[in-house]
Amino acid sequence: MMMGSRDPVGTACGPSTSSIARVARGPWLAAALLSLGACGDGGEDTLLCLEPGCTAVATWQGAAKAAVSMVFDDGYQSTLDHTLQPLVDARLAATHAVPSAHVGAELEGIPVAPLADWQRAVALGMEVGSHGSTHAILSQLPAEQLTKDLEDWLQWWRALGAQRPGPTLTYPTGRYDDKVTQEARRLGFVAGRATGSGLNPPSPPDLFALASQGTSASDAAGLQAFTDQAAAAGGWLIERWHLVAETNPTNYCCWNRPADFRAHVQQLRRDVDAATLWVAPLNEVARYVRERDTVRIRSVSTSPQAIVFALTSDLDAAVFDLPLTLTTVVPASWTQVRVKWSESEDAVAAEDLGADGTRRLVRYRVAPRGRVTLSPG
Ligand SMILES: [Zn+2]
Repeated sequence: MMMGSRDPVGTACGPSTSSIARVARGPWLAAALLSLGACGDGGEDTLLCLEPGCTAVATWQGAAKAAVSMVFDDGYQSTLDHTLQPLVDARLAATHAVPSAHVGAELEGIPVAPLADWQRAVALGMEVGSHGSTHAILSQLPAEQLTKDLEDWLQWWRALGAQRPGPTLTYPTGRYDDKVTQEARRLGFVAGRATGSGLNPPSPPDLFALASQGTSASDAAGLQAFTDQAAAAGGWLIERWHLVAETNPTNYCCWNRPADFRAHVQQLRRDVDAATLWVAPLNEVARYVRERDTVRIRSVSTSPQAIVFALTSDLDAAVFDLPLTLTTVVPASWTQVRVKWSESEDAVAAEDLGADGTRRLVRYRVAPRGRVTLSPG
């Protein structure tokens, strides 16, 4: 029984170890391996084990191939006005990095949306993240001012209304240093987004140094090229948006047309429906990464009647409570599988991924703590 931590995912693409069983490709198995985050190395897929009870955490929610977070910098009124309804219509959520001291005023000569608009955005499922309070370059502030800038923003944010726990920080102008990241961690931020270009790997080496991809001047086809690359590489794409407006009379640096944004959102929706992409705010993806990389899975018992295991996490349960996508091997004879999670009265919805001669795979979502019981029927 190799019900280790999340090694089936974390090391599947790394060097082989003796614990990794080589398994042949099969139609259902290939899909399952993909869902487990395993990868082909020289034409061979790897999976840690295939006995009943073997469980793995998917690299991305819903076993998507890649994650995408849309982040809108600076809180511009025009950007919010042109993006909110298309996102709501597509049942997608994004992150607005808002400099709170500019709310209801302007930044770079461009109007910033007022408080009531941010409350509405939060109520409609968007993440409002930090872009500092004053938009000062955080790494240039003396220690007390750095603390004050972030604390002022947190105070404003807490008054916005219920939203996801664990705020994220998008560094004004992209600049930061160790003092900034240490202070952000101390104040409870879960991630920091920079402006260095590129795709983040599934386990970014530093969640406070996240790379992003500027969208300026990209049309719908150009935007799709970025997400296609992310899907091919299996990483986390963070899109860096600024002004979304019909015209750009001031020649502002970073501008996209609303029609291109709407086409992009529709494409993202199709990719989500095809289980190619997981589209979620910065906050959700950052929490998923932390939980996925630290959750421990311990077998309690495995019998023909039930598979029981325990999930434990050392992370703060008040923040890191996002369900993870798990896949478990059960006997093929379990044509119906019931999943019970100790912290909920209700059964957890389980997707049957199919069976070969003796084994069946089921997929479901539970938060990274508590006891999980799978049983037939
Ligand atoms: Zn900015």
